[in-house]
Amino acid sequence: MRLETLAIHAGGEADPGTGAVSPPIHLATTFKHGPAGERIAGYEYQREGDPTNDRLRQAVAALEGGAAALTFASGMAAIGALLESLPNGARIAIPDDCYTGLRVLAAEFLPERGIVVATVDMADLEAVRKACADGIDLVWAETPSNPRMKVCDIAALATIAHEAGGMLVCDNTFASPVLQRPLALGADAVMHSTTKYFGGHSDVLGGALAFARNDALFERVAHRLHIAGANMSPFSAWLTLRGCRSLPARMALHCANARRVAEFLAGRDEIERVNYPGLASHPGHAIAAKQMRDFGGMLSIEVRGGREAALAMAGRLKIFTNATSLGGCESLIEHRASVEGDKPVSPQNLLRVSVGLEHADDLIADLEQALQG
Ligand code: PLP
Repeated sequence: MRLETLAIHAGGEADPGTGAVSPPIHLATTFKHGPAGERIAGYEYQREGDPTNDRLRQAVAALEGGAAALTFASGMAAIGALLESLPNGARIAIPDDCYTGLRVLAAEFLPERGIVVATVDMADLEAVRKACADGIDLVWAETPSNPRMKVCDIAALATIAHEAGGMLVCDNTFASPVLQRPLALGADAVMHSTTKYFGGHSDVLGGALAFARNDALFERVAHRLHIAGANMSPFSAWLTLRGCRSLPARMALHCANARRVAEFLAGRDEIERVNYPGLASHPGHAIAAKQMRDFGGMLSIEVRGGREAALAMAGRLKIFTNATSLGGCESLIEHRASVEGDKPVSPQNLLRVSVGLEHADDLIADLEQALQG
């Protein structure tokens, strides 16, 4: 089945009790069982699984081409559960450009358990090989990356990680499974902040992991989730499942709009640099073209004139909202360094843009008036 069809039907069978075509939300925290705890319909207690989350998990696994999936209260909860399943003293490599939460977690929490973290430019395969030379437990990829839009070669990283005795996990939040399917390229697990494109409407927090195999890794992380309890609520699962249905259709428009916006910005003197993998000038363009179906709805720009010029431009926009997050219907823009806490790493002139589903001409007109000042 093709992705567009899976997105509509995975986890979507009619409710057996009522025939309802759209799935019910089961809010029950507890499920009737037999006197010795026999699970009558497969469920016992919401933290260990519920029918609404199961539907979403089926959909995520199907869309990513995985054997199984788990859903979490947030993307960070998914990252946390996966990393917590590593043994004390594990060795991992993370990208030099990645979501702030992972960077902070790797700097502050993992060392408490003796986990050794190498920060590597994942686009530089030699650097990755070097980081893995003495063995590695986990290589973490994020492509395109947040916020510099760096692209790394998922298949090559999978080979390097496996040869060094480790696994490859890929944060696929920016691309979504519509544009990129890391498991088919050799990754062992895929992570999503479903808060973004899966949810699609900036109104539901969540995270997911899809696993290549129903193996010990899956079991370890599932056990973490069941015991530590960073579950997605059934209502959030229901909203996210609803988002899945339109994901391919939305991604097509996000991509088309982002390409127009990127091309417009690339032609402007006020902009020093446009980071969008769909532009032929992007250093990762060829790899993105090889492993992605299209180039996505995210981009970042580096504004000529530094921090002040970037803030002034962001402040003049009328259709783009100054807000964090991404993947919703509405276009957002954000001065990344301002939201990265005490130790920002993004260039001070960088604005991250989530291109929404408005008409591209309106978006470009808004950018034009903001650039003119
Ligand atoms: N990964 C990426 C690429 C993200 O952009 C984000 C959030 O912005 C996360 C992970 C964390 O997800 P959440 O905010 O749902 O915890």
